Amino acid sequence: MSIPNQIETVPSLNAFSLEGKIALVTGGGSGIGFYIAQCLAQAGAQLVITGRREDVLKEALPKLGTSARYFVNDITDLKSLPALIETIETEVGEIDILVNNAGINMKKHAVEVSDEDFDRVIQTNLHAVFSITRECGKRMVARKRGSILMITSMAALYGIDRVVAYTASKSAVGGMVKALTTEFSPYNVRVNAIAPGFIETPMMLTAMNGDPSRRDKAMDRTPMGTWGKPDDIGWAAVFLASEAAKFITGVTLPVDGGNSIGF
Ligand code: NDP
Repeated sequence: MSIPNQIETVPSLNAFSLEGKIALVTGGGSGIGFYIAQCLAQAGAQLVITGRREDVLKEALPKLGTSARYFVNDITDLKSLPALIETIETEVGEIDILVNNAGINMKKHAVEVSDEDFDRVIQTNLHAVFSITRECGKRMVARKRGSILMITSMAALYGIDRVVAYTASKSAVGGMVKALTTEFSPYNVRVNAIAPGFIETPMMLTAMNGDPSRRDKAMDRTPMGTWGKPDDIGWAAVFLASEAAKFITGVTLPVDGGNSIGF
């Protein structure tokens, strides 16, 4: 067999375009999710966002393009999720990109975390993520196309104090990415995660509020010495969701100013 001098492929920036794709971003009305949605819309995707607060979703919509839609939903209502995905696919169209962004944090010493606290975090950050992924995943597998993105955390990469339930939930999602990759890859459905570092959002600012030493410690642990902005996560999401990343699956990409090197 003769080996060619060049492999036949024509690189084009179009690979980053999400034109013609439908993207669902859970928790897309605020925080990181809103910026992910904005960046995906900038790249050409038609957006569907979900969340519990209708006023927040309504306010976000005009910034996501004229075809954007929202659906009010509490993801911890697990029984509602199959119908939610069915309704979105009927009313909007086939979901090409799923971003499991909605999540909650809980800052407490491990010994103070009740069973109810633990369940609430696991239900939101892990079980609901699984259920939504199963519902979208089975459709994507049948269509032999799709990209699924999890938003985990640097807490899933190394230990952080007072976030035991959160860390357990995000680490489990990281494991789920790998397990799903083994099952979905033959069907051209990619599964990846982004692990944000310290990103300026209401969730993070609330967690740091009233504790300036914690803020300083966060910056000391970040080689770039700054907070990330939510669009830093958004652009990483565009890349991983696009054809430019068509051979990337099963990975967790830290977007954290170097935090994950263990500075
Ligand atoms: P915010 O608290 O700012 O936003 C969370 C979003 O999730 C909101 O839109 C909220 O909408 C939605 N949400 C929460 N619970 C539910 C629920 N039960 N049902 C439906 N929607 C829900 O958080 P961030 O933007 O900071 O976080 C987004 C993701 O990024 C999370 O998964 C978080 O763990 C992760 N992350 C964030 C970091 C940071 O630095 N900010 C660092 C590492 C990870 P509503 O309240 O209207 O339901």
